[in-house]
Amino acid sequence: MRSFKHHNVYSLEEAFTLLRDYKSRARLIAGGTDLLGTLKNDIRLEYPEALINIKTIPDLNGIKEDNEGLKIGALTRLIHIVRSSVIEGKYGLLKEAAGSVGTPEIRNMGTIGGNLCQDTRCWYYRYPNQMGGRILCFRKGEGPCHAIKGDNRYHAIMGGKGCYAVCPSDIAIALTALDAELSVAHKGGERVLPITDFYQTLGHILKPDEILTKIRIPQPPDNAAQAFLKYRLRESVDFSIVSVASVITMKDGICKDTRIVLGAVAPTPFRALAAEESIRGKTLDATTAEAAAEAAVSIAKPLSMNAYKIEITKTLVKRALLSSLA
Ligand SMILES: Cc1cc2nc3c(=O)[nH]c(=O)nc-3n(C[C@H](O)[C@H](O)[C@H](O)COP(=O)(O)OP(=O)(O)OC[C@H]3O[C@@H](n4cnc5c(N)ncnc54)[C@H](O)[C@@H]3O)c2cc1C
Repeated sequence: MRSFKHHNVYSLEEAFTLLRDYKSRARLIAGGTDLLGTLKNDIRLEYPEALINIKTIPDLNGIKEDNEGLKIGALTRLIHIVRSSVIEGKYGLLKEAAGSVGTPEIRNMGTIGGNLCQDTRCWYYRYPNQMGGRILCFRKGEGPCHAIKGDNRYHAIMGGKGCYAVCPSDIAIALTALDAELSVAHKGGERVLPITDFYQTLGHILKPDEILTKIRIPQPPDNAAQAFLKYRLRESVDFSIVSVASVITMKDGICKDTRIVLGAVAPTPFRALAAEESIRGKTLDATTAEAAAEAAVSIAKPLSMNAYKIEITKTLVKRALLSSLA
């Protein structure tokens, strides 16, 4: 790994001052579980002069519930989300998603903010510089997306525009189903945006001088059934091949409202609006769940090696919906 300066900061103000002083030559570090790997493999064209450690800022850590819902500080570690009794109850799908991330070591160090801001896992993008030179690509601003003609078994089956890498964050999928909002601070202010506006094809939309500070989740209806299902190759530790998060509100056997979100099939969390529409106002049973599963993948355009993701997506959507009847 190349050397860099390391600054502990104790307030957002201090972090903003350093970000300004270093211009684009500094990076924020939280748990470091993603960032340090990218630096070790030297995957990007630019290398930071300094890391600004925000874990030392006291106010950005913690889980609180009030009448409006849940507030989670961006520096809250994934292990604390898994263990929180508040989250286990009303926000259970977030616990499932957090518990499925990485290994106990990753969950001990990794923060929820870092998970949402982590870099993509595309193997062309992540190719180590030490192994014959890094691979330039559309995402790095030079060259094509190599997944289009190359080995694309883990890439997007929908929504790819120039880059076919998928959003790697399981937490983003869960938070999209829970209709979360994100607070983003910059020097002198803050903006709050729905998580659906946080991602675009080439990753998150944070500017270099912005810091994700908080996640807010509205109270789900009392009777909302939630599910987070993840298909991965290695059960012990692996990123999603496909994941599905759903929140379904039933009344008198009829589906009143629903949010169904697909993970690892598109560059961003993908809200399956056609699937939601197909079951809203209907009885939920094997037939309507099957129809919703078909609708969820109706716009899929797989690449040469990843059509198998369509079948997995359909199966997970159907299972998630039927689990809400239990
Ligand atoms: C072996 C392994 C397995 C994994 N498996 C999974 C998995 O199954 N599912 C999954 O979702 N993830 C998985 N991950 C990714 C893991 O969840 C992330 O590495 C972790 O959550 C990142 O959190 P961190 O605090 O360590 O972030 P860091 O590594 O510190 O930061 C990651 C990025 O986010 C930026 N950043 C961090 N915090 C903020 C903030 N508050 N505001 C603005 N920018 C910020 C940093 O600048 C950096 O660019 C895995 C990682 C590894 C190494």
